[in-house]
Amino acid sequence: MMPESSLQTKEGERRATILDGAPVAEEIKRDTAHAVERLRTEHNIRPCLVVVRVGDDPASAIYVRNKVQTSLELGLISEHRELHAETTTEELLRLIAELNARDEVDGILVQLPLPSGVDETRVLEAIDPAKDVDGFHPVNVGRLAMGQPVIAPCTPAGIIELLVRNSVEISGASACVVGRSQIVGRPVAQLLLQRDATVTICHSRTHDLAAVTRRADILVAAIGRPAFIRAEHIKPGATVIDVGINKVTDEAQVRELFAEEAHKRLEIVRRRGYTIVGDVHPAEGKRVAGAISPVPGGVGLLTVAMLMQNTVTSARRRRGL
Ligand code: NDP
Repeated sequence: MMPESSLQTKEGERRATILDGAPVAEEIKRDTAHAVERLRTEHNIRPCLVVVRVGDDPASAIYVRNKVQTSLELGLISEHRELHAETTTEELLRLIAELNARDEVDGILVQLPLPSGVDETRVLEAIDPAKDVDGFHPVNVGRLAMGQPVIAPCTPAGIIELLVRNSVEISGASACVVGRSQIVGRPVAQLLLQRDATVTICHSRTHDLAAVTRRADILVAAIGRPAFIRAEHIKPGATVIDVGINKVTDEAQVRELFAEEAHKRLEIVRRRGYTIVGDVHPAEGKRVAGAISPVPGGVGLLTVAMLMQNTVTSARRRRGL
């Protein structure tokens, strides 16, 4: 996206275009609902997603409810398995084996994090790669690294959709990803590479981070530190994707982060005790970037939509369609 499309303030200062996640998420869900309907009418298939939750983490409960509800809205079959916090690795492995064996199950999602006593790696590796709608199985990670068609992890896939559906040119662009986690940083770097960006991956040991990030036409911040990316890290006019979800409770910090929009956020802090901020300084990001995804309301909205799309893709592929 070119800087010309960004907004001018009264003072003549350029303001970034906001890459709103909501319309993109709605579009993906609409497309997915149509694909589900076609599978039903043409092949008599209803894709089926099973979501497994272990323990009583309240945030996980909200995420799982959202996933189950969205599946049902789009016409998928959704099954929800809730296991108590003392569930052992072996018990979970038995459930995964059962779900792998059930032919009508197209997608298996184990909500993370798992309780500390459970061996997360063994559980994720037990999922049939063909049903791995989270894209975390080593076979799918390997295929992604090899540039093969694959069910990609949901948040990184959502980032690509946000860019593509906002006509941001990826091919040939210089892209920089800050963060190298298995969930976001590494897979999004692979997906950008698949689309012919020139990709740099940064992390906590990168020397002179700002000098590296400032060269990027597309900057993805997946760090987990509130407002870590400042004006000095951003090339003027660049497209910035903010993946971070961090809680901020301090009112003085909220005023500094949100500048003229601080009053809305302060109301939220007073009501809830915190507000959510990304890994990019919101006021500085908007001032320097050409386009920027907001937090909340950006990438976060796409993760569930991509999970639905992945389940339908898995249903089609498993049946050779
Ligand atoms: P991780 O903690 O797994 O990874 C963070 C990465 O940031 C690491 O690679 C780390 O480097 C790097 N990092 C940390 N400090 C610095 C620094 N000072 N300079 C440069 N790099 C640094 O986090 P995740 O990838 O899981 O998540 C990142 C953020 O995205 C979080 O805020 C999370 O809540 C959010 N998130 C949002 C999702 C959504 O919108 N749906 C989904 C998933 C995550 P190193 O490897 O060297 O330690």
